[in-house]
Amino acid sequence: MGVAIRADLASVPDYNIPGTAPGAILLNSNEAPLPPPPAVIDAVTRAAVEGHRYPEWFSDTLVARLADSLAVPAGRIAVGCGSVALCRDLVQAFCGPGDEVLLAWRSFDAYPVFARVAGVRARTVPLDAGHRHDLDAMLAAITPATRVVFVCNPNNPTGTAVRDRALRAFLDRVPDRVLVVLDEAYREFVDDPEVPDGIELARDRPNVAVLRTFSKAYGLAGLRVGHCVAAPAVVSALHKVAVPFAVSRIAQAAALAALERPGEVRSRAAAVVRERHRLLSLLTRGGHPATPSQANFVWLPLGRDAAAFADACARHGVLVRAFPGEGVRVTVGLPEENDAFLSAAHHYRPR
Ligand code: PMP
Repeated sequence: MGVAIRADLASVPDYNIPGTAPGAILLNSNEAPLPPPPAVIDAVTRAAVEGHRYPEWFSDTLVARLADSLAVPAGRIAVGCGSVALCRDLVQAFCGPGDEVLLAWRSFDAYPVFARVAGVRARTVPLDAGHRHDLDAMLAAITPATRVVFVCNPNNPTGTAVRDRALRAFLDRVPDRVLVVLDEAYREFVDDPEVPDGIELARDRPNVAVLRTFSKAYGLAGLRVGHCVAAPAVVSALHKVAVPFAVSRIAQAAALAALERPGEVRSRAAAVVRERHRLLSLLTRGGHPATPSQANFVWLPLGRDAAAFADACARHGVLVRAFPGEGVRVTVGLPEENDAFLSAAHHYRPR
């Protein structure tokens, strides 16, 4: 007889591990197209010198710096090993057996995995016809067992975003005992002024937690830092369940150095947004369905053509993320990378 692994883990889906290939253009993981600036790499190198020492337990220096830049008290910020770790920690801190997590579908695929790993039911509410969160339907789906609701804004993988009025109306009606997690991993790429800043919404709402990350606009996906802004009680709960020393000394140093260069982060994000507009308009002109996006990727709701389209792109050396039967998500890259993708897309002929 072998070791007794939890039987319910068998039904937890495996992660989709992004593919890679030598020389391929990687538009499949919503990463930044450029490496970190030299000053960040210097900070990483300096931090490595003290690699024999544990990092700060709760990333206090980084928290203080974030508090300053976000104009939020330090007691309202928790730092984690990527915002994905904070998603998991929130589920862990708020849910137990018999509880439910509520989320839109399709959305970030880690949410239902974390729910099931915690032994919690993931209740899903379909996106609306415009691939947006259907907040009224989500509100109606809250049950006495609901503990956490994820609202991914902008949504991964569709790039759609909910606007201020709709989100406030939703938050005003969600019961106080339910934690709403506004996952703003792609916030820096939003250019619709009606999409709210979740941190503003969370200021006077103790049941709202906002997730942000250094992985996307800050270009530090490989170094793993994210943060959560929420009421002090939520932050304390996150501290209880966190893996000790989860955020490495190198990651903390990189995030601190990146925060010293807000102009550079803004201009890199603006370049991605410009390319997003170009990509969307050329795709539409080429007759491809493409959903308006507020993130660093675009969504092509190709349905049953999704996998074949992604395969055709791969044959042209461009990796994109297929969601078979649903659509394809394409990260916005550098202009020449996007041109390579457009050329692959224009060559694609549905069978
Ligand atoms: N939230 C969303 C919506 C994401 O798409 C991602 C990454 N793909 C994350 C969180 C996690 O990002 P990270 O852990 O790198 O901060």
